[in-house]
Amino acid sequence: MNKQTRKYDVCVIGAGPGGISAALAAARNGAKVLLVEQNGYVGGNLVIGLPLLGYLDKDGNTVTAGIAQELVDALAERNATFGHRWCPMHNSVTLYDHEQLKIILFEKLLEANVEMLLHANVGDVNVECGKIKDITVCGKGWQIDVEAKIYIDGTGDGDVAYLAGCRYEKGPDNSGKLQPPTLMCTVADVDVSKLHDFIEKDPEQMVLSETTEVYPGYDADYFRASPNHVLVGMRKMFTELREKGELPVARDTLIYINSVVDGEVHLNCTRHAGIDGSDVFDLTRAEIEAHLQIPKLVECLRKHMPGFENARLTQIYPFLGVRETRRFAGIKTLCEKDILEGTLHEDSIGLGSYIIDIHDGAGLSTIVKKIPPYGIPYGVTVSRDVDNLMFAGRCASLDSVVMSSARVMPTMMVIGQAAGVGAAMAVKNDILPADVDVPALRENLIQAGVLMEAIKK
Ligand SMILES: Cc1cc2nc3c(=O)[nH]c(=O)nc-3n(C[C@H](O)[C@H](O)[C@H](O)COP(=O)(O)OP(=O)(O)OC[C@H]3O[C@@H](n4cnc5c(N)ncnc54)[C@H](O)[C@@H]3O)c2cc1C
Repeated sequence: MNKQTRKYDVCVIGAGPGGISAALAAARNGAKVLLVEQNGYVGGNLVIGLPLLGYLDKDGNTVTAGIAQELVDALAERNATFGHRWCPMHNSVTLYDHEQLKIILFEKLLEANVEMLLHANVGDVNVECGKIKDITVCGKGWQIDVEAKIYIDGTGDGDVAYLAGCRYEKGPDNSGKLQPPTLMCTVADVDVSKLHDFIEKDPEQMVLSETTEVYPGYDADYFRASPNHVLVGMRKMFTELREKGELPVARDTLIYINSVVDGEVHLNCTRHAGIDGSDVFDLTRAEIEAHLQIPKLVECLRKHMPGFENARLTQIYPFLGVRETRRFAGIKTLCEKDILEGTLHEDSIGLGSYIIDIHDGAGLSTIVKKIPPYGIPYGVTVSRDVDNLMFAGRCASLDSVVMSSARVMPTMMVIGQAAGVGAAMAVKNDILPADVDVPALRENLIQAGVLMEAIKK
């Protein structure tokens, strides 16, 4: 094994929306930053065929900007996004070209002087006197010991915090009942206009479960008006197919995400109950199951779904999408009551407002509830157990219901950006993240375009 030791101000582990924003923000605020990522590209779930959800609230007001908006602006410059569109179901939808975003992310990270280590997985975390002394990162026969002043966990599952022995919960009330993962795929040669004609003739296809709150107008006319849409529906057909034993997935609706490429849609449809996405054995089982489920699903859609007669599988994304695993204890935890009431905390570092969106791990359906914009306190990014550890992403200190809303990628970027600035301020002032001057942090974020109040449409 080749060995090396490297020193940084801030080490961010995991280059998803949370980790990337943290790395960019920390570097732009003067910190020497290393970003460690297990894949050969950056982006995490930003590059697996999903739409960006969460820029607008239920009334169409803007709630998310900062780095999250900077990326959409960069995509727009390349004609690689349809921009934001209000949606009666998801509040807003922002479709974009995922391959272009991969390139943009590398460019932004290089411009900000973020050092990167790809194909590298965190192997061990060495805690001394309540602080991480170093972490061991492994890849291709190398063991690299990284010594940093602050560590930011952006791994989604909180692998660093887990290895550091921090307290965490899984599922509502720590029940372990997790939202199921999904393996995303893309199909080409689809004529969505045929499906829109079909649902116009049979609107019952768009009636969703009783637990799904959706505003009027989520119908054929809405889908036809712009390619910038995500369709969740066809429950009637899915129920009939399931009853006949012809549906290979245990879910009650089709979810297609329209692509920026004509005739192509991304499918968010496989579902794997009882899987813990932070367990390597479960992950292995689910990846295999999902890869074998996808061709059956495509065949089923070709046979029954109007517009999908010629559908052709063109891509299976490189890893299973994991919705929910560990959530770690922070110096503050954001709870369901706060987001239902739309509390704007004095120590908010930005806003969330995406619907409560819980995919039932045991059943077939989804709980969807509209909520007002809410503030995200700085303390959700700061570990309660390890003094120099912060969170950027869905492993932050959010209860399970809050996580179901805040997990959308633009909101993850808001949390990541705040963690990055907080880390840089802690380094600059030689203090712990918990002692950062939060009003000064908020001012810094506002100067960088982050919204602390919604902008009315
Ligand atoms: C199926 C599915 C559908 C979704 N739909 C939407 C949607 O439509 N719109 C939306 O905005 N959001 C959606 N979400 C939510 C969103 O994608 C995630 O909540 C969000 O990406 C979490 O951000 P993150 O930065 O915490 O983690 P991730 O995006 O998961 O990124 C984590 C990164 O860390 C890396 N990593 C993990 N472990 C290690 C390790 N040990 N060492 C090194 N690197 C590591 C990973 O490779 C990855 O790059 C969906 C999620 C899923 C699973």
